Amino acid sequence: MEGKMATDRIYNFSPGPSVLPLPVLEQAAAELTNYRGSGMSVMEMSHRSKVYIDIFEETKASLKKTMKIPDTHEIVFMHGGATLQFSAVPMNLIGKTGKADYAITGSFSSLAMKEAKKYGEVCVAVSSEDKNHTYIPAQEDITFSPDASYFHYCSNNTIFGTEWKYVPETGGAPLACDMSSSILSMPVDVSKYGVIYAGVQKNMAPAGAAVVIIDKALAGYEHPLTPKLMSYKVMIESDSMQNTPPCYTIYMLGLVLKWLEKQGGVEGMAKIKTEKAKLLYDVLDESAIFTGCAEKAARSDMNVTFRTNSEALDGEFVKEAAKAGFDNLKGHRSVGGMRASIYNAMPMEGVEKLAAFMRDFEIKRA
Ligand code: PMP
Repeated sequence: MEGKMATDRIYNFSPGPSVLPLPVLEQAAAELTNYRGSGMSVMEMSHRSKVYIDIFEETKASLKKTMKIPDTHEIVFMHGGATLQFSAVPMNLIGKTGKADYAITGSFSSLAMKEAKKYGEVCVAVSSEDKNHTYIPAQEDITFSPDASYFHYCSNNTIFGTEWKYVPETGGAPLACDMSSSILSMPVDVSKYGVIYAGVQKNMAPAGAAVVIIDKALAGYEHPLTPKLMSYKVMIESDSMQNTPPCYTIYMLGLVLKWLEKQGGVEGMAKIKTEKAKLLYDVLDESAIFTGCAEKAARSDMNVTFRTNSEALDGEFVKEAAKAGFDNLKGHRSVGGMRASIYNAMPMEGVEKLAAFMRDFEIKRA
């Protein structure tokens, strides 16, 4: 079967894996069978070869530059997506005091906590479960344990469409943050974090890896039974090459980072994402049939969750939108309604057209 031409592409609002920048896909396609005169695809290269090591080093350097990662921190690429980090974080960090604090603001932070409970004593420092995770708690509502080895939170809640607008001040414990669905969408002061991790399949690359940014001072205290591929120390010391890394995904991340630089880096992305999100939130605020699911102060710029007042109408909207070329708008089953994931690679035009489609849908239903 022949692939569709680029002109036939739809607007893909998938929460992840999600849309990649078209120029990146085109460059990958152009280099697919023969990477820059090497006579090989990147998929076919030894991860120890000079040609691949150059790709790897360049990608790492690019990420370090883009996120202004200080020398105190190291980037590693790990298998197992963000979910494996739910286990890796406690296995590596909880040993210091045997305790950790978790902020529960959605499904993924709950899953992360569930994993951590296997390795130590875990306290719920704060939770937004009382209102089905429609808000983000304030700093003063968080109870920090004086002896926690770390405090874990998820900066953007992909399913519920909420995001932390501030970096929690723990008063000492290192911050461990799941940034899967907001990484690279804005500047982040990496020096404030002990560990940042992200499954790459939203803002970074196709699926197949987690990027983990670790304060080197925290590595080396892992539980003795930690598999070596999950040890931050081992992964730092072997420069993510303890075994075959997710080579092609890392190459794709390199292309995405080059594209990102052309958009003005994370500063550029921060401006664009706010404009894109505002287009949709304005529709919701002016609408008589659509309502946003998240409280206004907590609205995510990456995942816009909304609904009508009837499940049947939600279904109709999703169906008609798909017919019009806006795909993957169905909300997660735990929230219902709709969700438009508008990560970095979703063009402004896609969001403008979706906003127009929503207004049009409303007029037709009036
Ligand atoms: N954390 C967040 C915030 C996510 O959105 C996701 C995936 N949607 C995950 C963790 C799990 O990621 P993975 O599939 O890479 O394990």
